Amino acid sequence: MARSISYITGSQLLALKRRPNIAIVDVRDDERSYDGHIAGSLHYASDTFSDKISNLVQEVKGKDTLVFHCALSQVRGPTCARRLATHLTEVENEEIKNILVLERGFNGWEASGRPVCRCTSIPCKGDNAQ
Ligand SMILES: [Zn+2]
Repeated sequence: MARSISYITGSQLLALKRRPNIAIVDVRDDERSYDGHIAGSLHYASDTFSDKISNLVQEVKGKDTLVFHCALSQVRGPTCARRLATHLTEVENEEIKNILVLERGFNGWEASGRPVCRCTSIPCKGDNAQ
């Protein structure tokens, strides 16, 4: 059965993001390099997302909740979230239980004054880098 995808608000994400079982997946393309990002988020650009989907599943091993976002979370974020849900069904992955999309995306996150990381580390060292 395909997993359903639900939305999460920025304040909900802020409360959840320090949990070890959650991963944030940024699917913006080039914007990530000049607009900053949510600390600790992974980067899987939407244009190559399908090719790297098994790398992503490998990288988030042990996590059960994935939160997707793009700039606005209107097109790329939900599209990649649905692709992942389909992929997980195909490979019968049961580890990832929750697939969420961040409402209003990175732009909404930043506009609400939430913390933005501007490190250039790949992967982002997140909150530990500060
Ligand atoms: Zn960073």
